[in-house]
Amino acid sequence: MSEERITGYTAKRIRESLQADCQNCFGLCCTALNIVASSDFAMNKAAGTPCLNLQSDYSCQIHSSLREKGFKGCTVFDCLGAGQMVSQSTFNGQDWRKNPQIAAKMFRVFPIMEQLYEMIAYLAEALSYQLSLSLSEKLNRQLVQLQHLTNQEADILLAIDMTKYRMPINELLLETSQHIRNNFMSNAFDTKNKRKYNYRGVDWIGKNLKDEDLRAADLRGAYLIAANLQNTDLRGVDFIGADLRDAVLSGANLSTSMFLTQMQINSAKGNSKTILPAHLKRPSHWLGQ
Ligand code: SF4
Repeated sequence: MSEERITGYTAKRIRESLQADCQNCFGLCCTALNIVASSDFAMNKAAGTPCLNLQSDYSCQIHSSLREKGFKGCTVFDCLGAGQMVSQSTFNGQDWRKNPQIAAKMFRVFPIMEQLYEMIAYLAEALSYQLSLSLSEKLNRQLVQLQHLTNQEADILLAIDMTKYRMPINELLLETSQHIRNNFMSNAFDTKNKRKYNYRGVDWIGKNLKDEDLRAADLRGAYLIAANLQNTDLRGVDFIGADLRDAVLSGANLSTSMFLTQMQINSAKGNSKTILPAHLKRPSHWLGQ
């Protein structure tokens, strides 16, 4: 395998390039996944069964009114580009409707590609930071390895043991987070600042954190559902796996928040004053909030 060196600049471009392109996907998120009816999705849908709203050209019949019709989850989901990769590269542009013999395999490959893309996004973001040479080299190796995997054929992808990749990558992301947040703390605060930083997995559901200074906090896996984070300073915060559903981010500063995903942002509430990291887009449903 190539020992390609990925620079911080290239890593940033990789992270920014991870965007869904629904025009080049055969409606995989609307077909492959198993969805249980909830406040996010108005009906049950079995894995491998197309959603009733999916049209023959793979567009969504209710695209402009998803939230009003009880399909909020569809405005949150983001495959990061895994859908078009499976459609156009792994299966060479073969449409599963015209080639039903490939459908089942394509639907099983999609969630695997999604997981690879998710890890690539985290690794690319990590590599975009200023880190020690040894940590950068380890992240680089993992990123090149995953990129190589995304180009493999379907049977190889189906045989991947994901935990074999997830565990070492998680260790590297933890190390990256610690390093970046340590730097942030020493640069951003005076030395008398003794506040707590570790809130990993904290239950702050519905908590009022308006105007708080949470810079450089570790909010990995935190439960922030419907928390009030209005005007909260969240720079340098690690958000991996945090649940931000309906959290209020109006006016919050997330400009240098770490490992924040488009799905987390899509699931929260914000406004034109919320400051987002460069690689994330302001959700259209935030307009007018
Ligand atoms: S409602 Fe539309 S976007 Fe959501 S799964 Fe169905 S077809 Fe896809």
